[in-house]
Amino acid sequence: MQAAIVTVGDELLAGDTVNTNAAWLATQLTQRGVGVERVTTVPDRESDIAQVVNEYRAAYDAVVVTGGVGPTHDDVTMDGVAAALGRPLEQHEEALSWLTIHGGYAADDLDDGTTALPAGARVLHNEEGVAPGCVVERVYVLPGVPTEMKAMFETVAEEFAGEQDHIRVVETPEPESELLDRLAAVRDRFDVTVGSYPGENVRVKFSGPDPETVTAAADWLRDRVTTVDDDE
Ligand code: ATP
Ligand code: MG
Repeated sequence: MQAAIVTVGDELLAGDTVNTNAAWLATQLTQRGVGVERVTTVPDRESDIAQVVNEYRAAYDAVVVTGGVGPTHDDVTMDGVAAALGRPLEQHEEALSWLTIHGGYAADDLDDGTTALPAGARVLHNEEGVAPGCVVERVYVLPGVPTEMKAMFETVAEEFAGEQDHIRVVETPEPESELLDRLAAVRDRFDVTVGSYPGENVRVKFSGPDPETVTAAADWLRDRVTTVDDDE
């Protein structure tokens, strides 16, 4: 299973808000064995949202969209998703009745925009806030407020499942530039994905579907570098 993450918000693009939702969702999906192929941030603009949702739903099994859900003027995510799918926005009766029962709202107090969802969508109730999310044609629309987004994702987490990669990490204080030959050799020898992440030390990450190959590759490199005792 492959997925794309779309985070919506002018404030993310301006750097006013750190995009913690993207990192959190990427971690959740990866831990469930779902390959995250794209993380894209778009402004609060209907046409941009529609364009990426349309492209990604054609390319991947699921698209997770967060932010811009709700009745305020800058919340256009539902419009963008509806446009991408060629569906109108419609009042969702179940979303409205859930809010009047669980949220304690009088139906008249809720702005129409709050419970308008793309036609035919399955509503996702907002246990931590007001504005509902939805699922429509494998597009998951979640709120931007992190607590709301996380709680809502948990209600659909089971729908995301894939083959989990096995992972080994070898950490070495040697400079990355001196590792090039050995990284090339280990990649030649083993059918695994190798990532090299410099920081205080260099973390060399091996991943792949077969645990024995991943372990053999990590062991091969570990025998040939100075190591920091921090394998996982
Ligand atoms: P509401 O229903 O409250 O209007 P919303 O779904 O419309 O929520 P936004 O208006 O986009 O969400 O953002 C609400 C809050 O959540 C803002 O403070 C915003 O900075 C924060 N937020 C939005 N997207 C993200 C993100 N990707 N990572 C971290 N925080 C975010
Ligand atoms: Mg908002």
